[in-house]
Amino acid sequence: MLKFVDVNQETPIKRKTDSRKKDFNEIYDQYITDKAKEQSSRCSQCGVPFCQIHCPLQNNIPDWLKLTAEGRLREAYEISQSTNNMPEVCGRICPQDRLCEGNCVIEQSGHGTVTIGSVEKYITDTAWDKGWVKPIKVTKELKESIGVIGAGPAGLACAEEMRKYGYKVTVYDRYDRPGGLLIYGIPNFKLEKFVVERRTKLLKDSGIKFIQNFEVGKDKTLEDLKSEHDAILIATGVYKAREIEIPGSNLENIFPAMDFLTASNRKGLGDKVKLFDNGILNAEGKEVVVIGGGDTAMDCVRTAVRQKAKSVKCLYRRDKANMPGSAREVGNAEEEGVDFVWLTTPKSFIGDKKVNGVEVSKMKLGEPDSSGRRRPIPIIDGDFKIKADLVIKSLGFDPENIPKLFNSENLLVSKWGTIKIDLKTMQTSIDGVFAAGDIVRGASLVVWAIRDGRDAAEQMDKYISSKRQKNKKEFAA
Ligand SMILES: Cc1cc2nc3c(=O)[nH]c(=O)nc-3n(C[C@H](O)[C@H](O)[C@H](O)COP(=O)(O)OP(=O)(O)OC[C@H]3O[C@@H](n4cnc5c(N)ncnc54)[C@H](O)[C@@H]3O)c2cc1C
Ligand code: SF4
Repeated sequence: MLKFVDVNQETPIKRKTDSRKKDFNEIYDQYITDKAKEQSSRCSQCGVPFCQIHCPLQNNIPDWLKLTAEGRLREAYEISQSTNNMPEVCGRICPQDRLCEGNCVIEQSGHGTVTIGSVEKYITDTAWDKGWVKPIKVTKELKESIGVIGAGPAGLACAEEMRKYGYKVTVYDRYDRPGGLLIYGIPNFKLEKFVVERRTKLLKDSGIKFIQNFEVGKDKTLEDLKSEHDAILIATGVYKAREIEIPGSNLENIFPAMDFLTASNRKGLGDKVKLFDNGILNAEGKEVVVIGGGDTAMDCVRTAVRQKAKSVKCLYRRDKANMPGSAREVGNAEEEGVDFVWLTTPKSFIGDKKVNGVEVSKMKLGEPDSSGRRRPIPIIDGDFKIKADLVIKSLGFDPENIPKLFNSENLLVSKWGTIKIDLKTMQTSIDGVFAAGDIVRGASLVVWAIRDGRDAAEQMDKYISSKRQKNKKEFAA
């Protein structure tokens, strides 16, 4: 260990831009074993590991780096999977620069961070290849059951943990496949779908029941599900796209980001998608304009590049330094030829029936607002036009009206519409109903959804166990 002085930082090889633009495969190669060992040996084994503190799962990073450096991969895998239900997913898509790696001590001393995410991915991908990842074998089946609404990372992590305790678990989801945004939001070039599918298959092989194409609120109410299970988890994510109210918003060929990304992901999975197959949601040959500066916007521009768009522009109202998206993803998009039009905001969409351009206002940065970021202000007479025949709006997501959808007006929500929970017990305003993931936090990260799912499982087990004890006492009396 401590080889950071002599061994330089190396990330896995990134595929050449020309090659990666031609397909939807992931852009980083896997480490070879010797490289993973070498890179892990750069860790300084800090007494107080800041990487671990800043990982939402508090992964025991120094230990699995040391074991990897020593070639003890199976033990590294055991430690890594003990705190994380999807280490190979997090290794691929966590914004490490803001979490574990952003707090690596050797980075602070100018040597370049240990490449924690890549090693984490390497360990678990190797575990899958070697057959070390096994379905859960329940030693003692419990009679109680839980229902999980939503098969995204929060719901899946909770389902897995509850199954480990021995509960019967049923996961309900309105999509036709489990995985939530891991399947239909995040594109293949960041997270190949087989990675998610082998995880959900493992959960099915562990005895977890999945009911797909099942929308709570339409197919059954929350009350119905409550009467069938001993506890319920709501992990439905946030899906209401934020709108942009400017003239021309009703023109054809202006779409929310999730419509565009879901269509592309479905095509990758081999589905028929009418709006893509008839060319409307396909960027090929088009002048594409994406509005927004977050990670979803980056996924849209890079998807449009791979669909062979004629040009791809990204409009963002602040400058590059103030973009909310991960710097790594912005860099990838720039390499792939995306044209960023910084300090611009759309003023109107132009066209008769279909959009053919966007009128934009040029902005400058003023004083910081309540978020601490400098407020964008329009420059007088700074308007100009950009050609566009496909516009994608990526301005963020809000929660749907869950109490109304679920026909549960007694389910309390915050002023933002996220579900209110007791932060200690993770229970909502309804007894026996818990909530986790984006529907509680607002749009966030996969690693936080996993964390919440695990915490919810612990609390649901406590809740059911205490009820069991109470019933026993009453029976004995
Ligand atoms: C395009 C995009 C890219 C992203 N990229 C990254 C990234 O690179 N790294 C990262 O860490 N995070 C990323 N995120 C964020 C991340 O995907 C989410 O934070 C995470 O998936 C939230 O998990 P969740 O389980 O709370 O919700 P979701 O993943 O949204 O899952 C919720 C599930 O609930 C189901 N559902 C909803 N309503 C109902 C209902 N009424 N009945 C039944 N089922 C229902 C949905 O069908 C869905 O399957 C990205 C998000 C988007 C949109
Ligand atoms: S889960 Fe994410 S933050 Fe935690 S160690 Fe892995 S990559 Fe880093």
